[in-house]
Amino acid sequence: MTDPVVLWFRRDLRVEDNPALVAAVGSGAPVAAVYVHDDAREALAGGASRWALAGALESLGRALAERGGRLLLLRGEAATVLPALARQLGAGHVHAMRAVGPEAREEEAVARALEGAGRRCTFHDGALLHDPRSLTTRTGTPYRVFTPFWGTLARTLDPGTPLPAPARVPAPESLPEGETLAAWGLRPRDPDWAGGLRATWTCGEAAARARLAAFVDGALDGYDAGRDRPDRPATSGLAPALALGELSPREVWAACRLHPPGPGAEAFSRQLGWREFSYHLLHHAPDMARRSLRAPFEAFPWRDPATDPDTAAALAAWRRGRTGVPFVDAGMRALWHTGTMHNRVRMVVASFLVKHLLIDWRVGLAWFDDTLVDADPANNPAGWQWVAGCGVDAAPYFRVFNPVAQGEKFDPDGAYVRQWVPELARLPAPLIHRPWTASPVELAAAGVRLGETYPRPLLDLAQGRLRALAAHATLREGP
Ligand code: FAD
Repeated sequence: MTDPVVLWFRRDLRVEDNPALVAAVGSGAPVAAVYVHDDAREALAGGASRWALAGALESLGRALAERGGRLLLLRGEAATVLPALARQLGAGHVHAMRAVGPEAREEEAVARALEGAGRRCTFHDGALLHDPRSLTTRTGTPYRVFTPFWGTLARTLDPGTPLPAPARVPAPESLPEGETLAAWGLRPRDPDWAGGLRATWTCGEAAARARLAAFVDGALDGYDAGRDRPDRPATSGLAPALALGELSPREVWAACRLHPPGPGAEAFSRQLGWREFSYHLLHHAPDMARRSLRAPFEAFPWRDPATDPDTAAALAAWRRGRTGVPFVDAGMRALWHTGTMHNRVRMVVASFLVKHLLIDWRVGLAWFDDTLVDADPANNPAGWQWVAGCGVDAAPYFRVFNPVAQGEKFDPDGAYVRQWVPELARLPAPLIHRPWTASPVELAAAGVRLGETYPRPLLDLAQGRLRALAAHATLREGP
């Protein structure tokens, strides 16, 4: 009987286009497929991502079982668990997909432990369309600005054809019992707050692939025109699948390229390019979730919710969607209910937190990490740093999003606000993004009592903007 190989699943919870799986099966040996739950690492993952992870693992387990395989669930540190498993099974080779950023650090420890025990470990590429280790500017430095990054990458990009899923993934004759998914407590209980997530998302690779197909056949052609409208189903909804690796970026890219070219497909490819750019930045700054990429921002005079009760109350209002600014509140409530938020609205709520409320971008990042089903180690810090103005290729600090103007432009009929802030639903479109400007008669006609049925704004938006600019002026700008 041939000795088995071990296949370690990480953020690649799929059977299609999975180079590590193809290599493991291609070895001709039985494949011990394993996911390792590290309590310390998973405790850092937010509630919504843990919920999505449970669904992805269930789906992967089914896909492997259909192919004669089995997904073994083990708990502990990968650098301890994997060598022990390899020893127990007599496996000489471990295959896995390469991660980017902080999760890549685990790889060195795993490889060292396995090699110390006389076993091999191969990390395969496929989490990205480009290799951040080899794509550099002409002077050999990492890219810091998106446009030239994408200009170079888009011109040369050829990620190849996605690999088909192996028809069979033969399991070794004997495998340890392993743990159960239920024992990991990834899904919330007492209280079960995930009803809105279940109503919004079907987890797993097959559902993600169906979403991709529906998007390519439907909204892709109008993506360029519609992608900024939160009141329309104009984007792909693929972020959770990309974050957990239920779909490979290469499969999404290929599906988009097979479609007749046009401005919709072009604009969508560019957004996939932003994901590549975020990971490029993360590769070169693995602590991007903790440290401003522009060093002077570390001295920014944030208001601290831990020491200032007014700031704590403002933060609580932001989280609950009770700021009194309808477009912000709609986004924050949508996030809480569905585990996602439209990109345009993410920019607006993030700007409101860091600029109008002067609360540290890392506080917002942590809330997104906890509540987004697509919480992503690269896209989330890159998004926050971009909005805060402390990223390398960021919106300039003086560009403070006006949440009223943004709402009026991108939700012109107020449909998005009406959906998520139903207490304002009867206000006419010209007032729905600025209820504090309505007359008493107009408010009464819509059944709105400001300060009672819906909060008054936390602050005067124009003054908040000036306060943000004054705070910024205290910084000594550096490179
Ligand atoms: P689509 O518009 O259909 O785009 C397709 C894919 O391209 C997305 O799934 C995503 O993988 C990628 N993409 C699109 N826009 C961006 C972008 N601006 N930056 C990087 N990649 C992009 N995205 C996440 O995946 N996870 C996060 O945790 C996350 N946090 C964010 C935080 C802030 C403050 C901001 C401003 C943006 C954040 N984004 C994040 C980026 C973006 O908002 C989401 O990727 C997008 O809204 C997901 O919806 P979709 O899948 O329908 O996107």
